[in-house]
Amino acid sequence: MNITGRTTLCGLFGFPVEHSFSPMMHNAAFRELGLDWAYLPFAVKPDNLSVAVNSIRALDLAGVNVTVPHKEAVLPYLDELTTAAEMIGAVNVISNNNGKLIGDNTDGQGFTKALQQEPGFTVQGKKAVILGAGGAAKAVAVQLALEGLMEIKVINRTNDRAQDIAQKAGRLGVNHAVCNWEDNLVDIIANSDLVVQATNVGMYPDTEKCLPVSPDAFSPGQVVCDLVYNPVETKFLKMARANGAVTANGLGMLLYQGVLAFEQWTGSDAPVQIMREVLMNQMRGDKQ
Ligand code: NAP
Repeated sequence: MNITGRTTLCGLFGFPVEHSFSPMMHNAAFRELGLDWAYLPFAVKPDNLSVAVNSIRALDLAGVNVTVPHKEAVLPYLDELTTAAEMIGAVNVISNNNGKLIGDNTDGQGFTKALQQEPGFTVQGKKAVILGAGGAAKAVAVQLALEGLMEIKVINRTNDRAQDIAQKAGRLGVNHAVCNWEDNLVDIIANSDLVVQATNVGMYPDTEKCLPVSPDAFSPGQVVCDLVYNPVETKFLKMARANGAVTANGLGMLLYQGVLAFEQWTGSDAPVQIMREVLMNQMRGDKQ
């Protein structure tokens, strides 16, 4: 990377940040387009968050991504939030618009954009089941609701979190319900167009673990997504694919949340293929 006197800077605020693929993904995209930009990792301790956010203005950074543990805590320090960020209550992208800091959440948008690209799934009028009710589930559910989902069922161990997500979707006009792991999940899942596995279960290194869902819940015509991307195919996805469902892992969501941030900051179309290749290379390296 060739840093010059004119290089535009952006980066990532999180703690820790060393595991992130975003610096490699964005810097490869800048190189590909010949942009004099650089993306840096900033390990921001929770006590330093407000100073770090002010430094976006002071140092004239073009923007930053925000990751764990700051996605919710950062909200009070921003000047404006997009509808998605406000409804989700979390920010993963900040853009610096001449000193005005605008917070967005591209996690959910990244998820739906990936589904539109492959396998060509559109949300309008569809029924979805979300397994899990953490931060990622909330981002996905709110975006599905913003895009015209007809019905959502949320299943989670902790009932309060599932209720919160279902009610958020309900406020956007989506028919909503909360279910338990003890309910008849075969019927609930079989009746949905889209199934989203949004828990940590099955993630590396616990790749032998799988949610207690019967293979009979899946059928051809359904789209089943696992937000986990390491491993590339979880046991859950394997089971859904074996029963004929169209499946997708979490790589698309990771890729497109970055693509959308890149395009907000630079105003240029992102080189999606290069960004995808960088992520896949990083993932292969991560497992060695
Ligand atoms: P989170 O906020 O910590 O939420 C974790 C969720 O998993 C909660 O709903 C939790 O249930 C549930 N859970 C955990 N262990 C479980 C178990 N043994 N049985 C049933 N449910 C269990 O985490 P998150 O940020 O939402 O992340 C969730 C998953 O999405 C992770 O695998 C993460 O890697 C993935 N993710 C992917 C992307 C992407 O770009 N592809 C982005 C963000 C996250 P309780 O509420 O009952 O604890």
